Amino acid sequence: MPQHDSAMPIHEKNFWLETVTMPPVQPAPDLPENIDVAIVGGGFCGLSAALSLAKRSVSVAVLEAETFGWGASCRNGGMVLTGMKLPVPILIKRYGLYAARQMFAASLETISCVEKIIRDENIDCNFSRCGHLEVACKQSHFDGYEESAALVKQKFEHDLRVIPKSELRTEIGSDIYFGGLVDETSAGLNPARYVAGLANAAQRAGACLYDRTRVDKIELRGRGSGRSSARFLVETSKGAITAREVILASGAYATSATPALRRKIIPIGSYIIATEILPTDLSRELSPRNRMIYNSKHFLYYYRLTPDNRMLFGGRAAFFPETENTVRQSAVILRRGMITVYPQLRDTKVEYVWGGTLDFTLDVMPHAGKIDEMYFAAGFAGHGVAAATWFGSKLAGMICGDKDSTPFSAIPFPTAPYGLRSGHTWALPLAGLWYRILDLFT
Ligand SMILES: Cc1cc2nc3c(=O)[nH]c(=O)nc-3n(C[C@H](O)[C@H](O)[C@H](O)COP(=O)(O)OP(=O)(O)OC[C@H]3O[C@@H](n4cnc5c(N)ncnc54)[C@H](O)[C@@H]3O)c2cc1C
Repeated sequence: MPQHDSAMPIHEKNFWLETVTMPPVQPAPDLPENIDVAIVGGGFCGLSAALSLAKRSVSVAVLEAETFGWGASCRNGGMVLTGMKLPVPILIKRYGLYAARQMFAASLETISCVEKIIRDENIDCNFSRCGHLEVACKQSHFDGYEESAALVKQKFEHDLRVIPKSELRTEIGSDIYFGGLVDETSAGLNPARYVAGLANAAQRAGACLYDRTRVDKIELRGRGSGRSSARFLVETSKGAITAREVILASGAYATSATPALRRKIIPIGSYIIATEILPTDLSRELSPRNRMIYNSKHFLYYYRLTPDNRMLFGGRAAFFPETENTVRQSAVILRRGMITVYPQLRDTKVEYVWGGTLDFTLDVMPHAGKIDEMYFAAGFAGHGVAAATWFGSKLAGMICGDKDSTPFSAIPFPTAPYGLRSGHTWALPLAGLWYRILDLFT
């Protein structure tokens, strides 16, 4: 057997899930007949909304088809990043300076929101403002960094630091990049422990959490101001429940129970490997400042050390949402990628591999508001740790009568083209190919 095969795990295994015990949840027979707010989906977004609502004395039930955090929330890299998925010049060009400024400020607010919840609720999830590092895969990418940093400083009064190649070893133990861009404001955490902490906090505040409770159908019974306590009939695998309001927090995993939202989501697979625990001196060499790192490609790699000193290395190795096959193939592709970045890890064993699905939208922007009279937030792409938490609390606020203050509600939410949308993803490999071609020529 070739050497690299024996260094690879054979089955999907998520490192984060081994670091946490999820809180006990409400036994199924306790599903209430009526509730103020029913939330579909128990990830960051649903749990954060539940926490905020319960704290404002609103009765709330979170209905999760699998287990809490089963979706992207327990599968991600735990990077809590500033900015949006789209580069700043595109944001300004598309939405104008005023809106782009509000969006960028919101991205900073999302991180503070996560930090505040973690502090207030005493969540033990290794949150640290360690900063992020973007590394340039081409000289032309690095050449743009000075301009980006100046633009962000000038328009948003936010500091980014350009790291020339000659100093890059102070940031990363790799010689393949052309320089870097550091943002000290970003953070990192253990996402599964954060989910568990959010779930505990929501329960403490009075929210009811129901796992293995799939929402099959939602019927709007009466339109109007929303004062009736039973506007929606929510049919679940554990029985029916009526609710005054519904929040859709199903991320990339939206099902046919919510067809209007599902048509707008582009579900894109992303995969992660994690190595065995590394010796301290080696881990310090690989990431001297323990940053959240990603490269400058469209088809990018992202990586970081875990709190117990493993290299966690992720990327869009296959574009399709996770299956046993894509996970296995991704493990091989990602290990190859990791060794290209870090030849020091050539003989290091990979102990974990897993995959998950990100919720992209056609305009690569987050969206929130109402769809079919229900509140929703989606489209967090690779920024969902912070954004999903923040949007969850904003939706809760809107339900409680707060003014809709997010700069994202006003932008149109495009439907995804057939072939890219949830349930019909046959064209996703073409999109993947397009991004690979872009990476060759830009
Ligand atoms: C591999 C990977 C790496 C990532 N890395 C990062 C990162 O480093 N930083 C970052 O910011 N973001 C990252 N993301 C994105 C981030 O994880 C997501 O944006 C975020 O977790 C979305 O949270 P959510 O609550 O909206 O959705 P999810 O966590 O996906 O939760 C949705 C839940 O809804 C449930 N559900 C769906 N339909 C129903 C139904 N009908 N009935 C009941 N329940 C239902 C699902 O079971 C699921 O658990 C990554 C994602 C992946 C997959």
